[in-house]
Amino acid sequence: MAHFLIIGAGIGGLTAAHALLRQGHTVRVHEAAPEIREVGAGLVLGANAMRALHELDLHAAVRPLGTPVTLLHLLDQRGRVLQRADTTPFTRAVGFDNLGIHRAALQHALLRHLPPGTVQTGTAFGHFTAQGATLTAHFADGRTATADALIGADGIRSRVRRQLWPRAEPRYAGYTCWRAVVAAAELNLPAGESAEVWGDAGRRFGYVPVGGGQVYWFACLNSPQPRNPKFQAYSPADLQRAFGAFPDPVPQLLARTGSHQLLWNDIQDLPPLAHFAQGRILLLGDAAHATTPNLGQGAGMAVEDAAVLARCLASSPTDIAAAFRAFERRRRSRTARVVRTSWHLGRVGQVANPWLVSLRNHVMKLLPDSVARQQMAWLYEEL
Ligand SMILES: Cc1cc2nc3c(=O)[nH]c(=O)nc-3n(C[C@H](O)[C@H](O)[C@H](O)COP(=O)(O)OP(=O)(O)OC[C@H]3O[C@@H](n4cnc5c(N)ncnc54)[C@H](O)[C@@H]3O)c2cc1C
Repeated sequence: MAHFLIIGAGIGGLTAAHALLRQGHTVRVHEAAPEIREVGAGLVLGANAMRALHELDLHAAVRPLGTPVTLLHLLDQRGRVLQRADTTPFTRAVGFDNLGIHRAALQHALLRHLPPGTVQTGTAFGHFTAQGATLTAHFADGRTATADALIGADGIRSRVRRQLWPRAEPRYAGYTCWRAVVAAAELNLPAGESAEVWGDAGRRFGYVPVGGGQVYWFACLNSPQPRNPKFQAYSPADLQRAFGAFPDPVPQLLARTGSHQLLWNDIQDLPPLAHFAQGRILLLGDAAHATTPNLGQGAGMAVEDAAVLARCLASSPTDIAAAFRAFERRRRSRTARVVRTSWHLGRVGQVANPWLVSLRNHVMKLLPDSVARQQMAWLYEEL
């Protein structure tokens, strides 16, 4: 059995730790943050991700913390239905729900079920060195740790990736996004239903239940530049001005949001990489294939990565480099497809030109449900 170092205790790093421990390897996860705090808003874990969690014996720990999402309504700015996607045929075939969940709840569940001491916080990875069969990670505070293999699960700005492939850079998608999770039980939103409102002028708003009467919402606006100073100080009141005329429950969700609950991120992804593995070093999760959030599959892909990594190591237990190469072969095309599809979907959703907006809405309305379903079927295919 081998000793692994994982850099990053996000969804990818923690699920990978579970996958490796189950196979009898020893694992140490190094996280830069001084503590695992409640960061992030909501997530949808697709049935594909729930199946992967099941494969890692984590489904039972996660499933009660969220709520099933069965319907996605796509609406125009006046509340007219453009499309209505019932995901039940997929989830029934896969055997697992699509789950709306708070990211913090998911991360804590993954953390809680690891043996104490597996995760070391406050250790920011700086670089690695290799000597013979030993890899050494060097941390910002001068400490080091050695291992047989190193996994970079350190997110879209991965330092592990930067050392391996310094030219791979995130790209800005042209829009910026606010998110929050709010208590909204008294709105009595229909159970299991989520919606996206595609407005004019590059305005988009979506919401999804995450359980316990809480609703996760996101609001996107076009912005020619990232870190736009105009948006830096945006408050819920500013968002009310931008989205207040959107259909219910958009204004009500914004009205329930305090400034302290608001998260703001420019939307970015990572153009697909040619490699995820180099020798006994591997990238996974956002470090390897960060995607725009339009398919709701970023965390799902990280969870799938962990399940596939477990399979690859089980088939090649004594040759980690071979297992990592097999992982790369199995994951590159699927994750690249998610990245590309999500990027294009985002461009359609953020269209600003009024003619294109009405053309888009017209096409979406005419698109038969069966075609829309067909376009999504690949996401749920067996890994
Ligand atoms: C607006 C938005 C909406 C989204 N919605 C969804 C959704 O509905 N469904 C879905 O599946 N996904 C969604 N995602 C994506 C999802 O959040 C990410 O894909 C997922 O969290 C990636 O997990 P990760 O572990 O790979 O990376 P991260 O969550 O970024 O974790 C990386 C970890 O590494 C740590 N780290 C970074 N650098 C270092 C270092 N040098 N040393 C040590 N530690 C380090 C970080 O502190 C962090 O804890 C969304 C993302 C956004 C921005």
